[in-house]
Amino acid sequence: MADLGDNKDRQGDRLRESSEFVLETRGLTKNYTTTTGELEVLRGIDLKVANGEFVSITGPSGVGKSTLLHILGGLDQPTAGEVTVCGHRLEGLSDTDASRYRNKEVGFIFQFHYLLEEFDALENVMMPLMIRGEARNKSRSRALKLLDEVGLAERATHRPAQLSGGERQRVAVARALSGEPRLLIADEPTGDLDDNTAADLHELLAHLNRDHDLTIIVATHDMSLADRAGTTYQMVAGQLLGRA
Ligand code: ADP
Repeated sequence: MADLGDNKDRQGDRLRESSEFVLETRGLTKNYTTTTGELEVLRGIDLKVANGEFVSITGPSGVGKSTLLHILGGLDQPTAGEVTVCGHRLEGLSDTDASRYRNKEVGFIFQFHYLLEEFDALENVMMPLMIRGEARNKSRSRALKLLDEVGLAERATHRPAQLSGGERQRVAVARALSGEPRLLIADEPTGDLDDNTAADLHELLAHLNRDHDLTIIVATHDMSLADRAGTTYQMVAGQLLGRA
């Protein structure tokens, strides 16, 4: 996201930290203990995602896509294995460090936008920056720039209820990018959108990847979104198959 950033020092830090892979996992496993016994969801995932790569993960519902993305995003912990994202080892992070990681290095979008209804689009995008302690003016100008980037400059003062589903999801994308993450993780981002609106969001993600070198990992049922990715995997029986 270099040319969307406004903090040169931070970009410098990024370059110094940059390595060939934004994300790497080794032998990642995740089990859930359920009333009927141990459920093995992830069974030894070895995944490498290069800087600027656009990766899609498809597979039937319940196969473990969200579980994997939540671990990659620092929202959940694996049972075993290693996860390294932007030079940080994630497994075993304290809650405070996991939340710092989520705030700084990774942007997350979900099937539902989770925007705060009582705030307008601009305030929703500014919120993570203000929480991080950025000055109001700086947060405001960055949020406006991002809303412009997702095609919603004219809607900055609209609340979520005054926006369409696709527009709300675009605001969610702008909010996810507010902290200048290197990695955007998207879990079924078009699952709640009609085909035309979904196609617009596909184009936006492809643009962010192509023109801003944003690394993207998306889990989706939507094959037209999966096909946008340069690398596609299928999740089968807790493993990723078919790098292409
Ligand atoms: P997908 O995203 O591919 O639909 P999920 O990662 O959501 O799949 O779920 C994978 C499996 O793990 C499912 O069988 C689901 O029921 C189970 N699961 C997910 N979260 C939990 C949990 N917190 N406790 C127990 N089982 C869970």
